[in-house]
Amino acid sequence: MEKKYHFASDNTAGVAPEAWTALEHANDGYSPGYGEDDWTARASDLIRELFETDCEVFFTFNGTAANSLALATLCQSYHSIICHEMAHVETDECGAPEFYSNGTKVLLAGGANGKLNPDEVEEIAQRRSDVHFPKPKVISLTQPTEMGTVYQPDDLQKISAIAKKLSLRLHMDGARFFNALASLNVSAKEITWQSGVDVLCLGGTKLGMPVGDAVVFFNKELAYEFEYRCKQAGQLASKMRFLSAPWVGMLENDACLKHARHANDCAQKLASKLDEFEEIKLITPVEVNGVFAQFPDHLHASLKDKGWRYYNFIAKGGARLMCSWATTEQDIDDLIRDIRASL
Ligand SMILES: *Cc1c(COP(=O)(O)O)cnc(C)c1O
Repeated sequence: MEKKYHFASDNTAGVAPEAWTALEHANDGYSPGYGEDDWTARASDLIRELFETDCEVFFTFNGTAANSLALATLCQSYHSIICHEMAHVETDECGAPEFYSNGTKVLLAGGANGKLNPDEVEEIAQRRSDVHFPKPKVISLTQPTEMGTVYQPDDLQKISAIAKKLSLRLHMDGARFFNALASLNVSAKEITWQSGVDVLCLGGTKLGMPVGDAVVFFNKELAYEFEYRCKQAGQLASKMRFLSAPWVGMLENDACLKHARHANDCAQKLASKLDEFEEIKLITPVEVNGVFAQFPDHLHASLKDKGWRYYNFIAKGGARLMCSWATTEQDIDDLIRDIRASL
């Protein structure tokens, strides 16, 4: 394994110690498969405690499955899903939401900094009401967004008011939900079910788990037969305890929030150091664990030569630098030193 930190994604980091320890504890003796075990029950209870409500919880192997199965369960094949044009659901899931829903159409809305513009959402939802158009059924939003910004509680209220008014369901892609929670410093319930969210896809992998995301149904009726959907899609883990145990390790003692806060803090430090270079411009406000910055063209090649890894296709040529639970101050200083030397 390379020792140099990879800013390409928060999934380049290894497993956080609390998740690793829980896995080791789970690797003791025998327990029933397919989620009938104590670890899965405990993980589900901890998620219910976090959200302070009696929700239905399912564990899947990844976020694409969580999103697309959740969306498929909210829709008939003749429905449509409104999401941001940069949403993972649209750009990074290889059509899985359409596939699992047997053809539900994804309709794209714009909005600054990766956040849905509520007026556009409303316009799209009301554009047509005739039988020739795929009937809008769900608004899907990403919290935090693909551009490293967060929906404030007010923003969520605006979107959920539209959903309520037009009888649309509200889905939240929370692949980095804990980073948003740490950034907003509110309770988990305030920015989910109290803001009208019906289903949340709660990310574990990028936060520091080895594998696994959770699908959380606040509207429990919508969870009807969801276990069949998971099984049919190959998303029901046989040795489920190894998917759920890391959640126990991370949710106990608030390790989730601790790691999310650390990653967010690292991004702040990195952003403020980048901001000192005249040649570099930050593209979006840094509100969670990602920094989006415009670099001069020659800098990309030079940093690549020096072994740095990050994406520059997401923000139209800008660099996306993601921090994680594992990022250190030294990693940031090393990158800044190489940028200084290259400029
Ligand atoms: C990473 C990510 C996901 C999940 O992706 P998988 O690779 O399928 O786990 C979902 N939504 C967003 C916004 C993401 O960044």
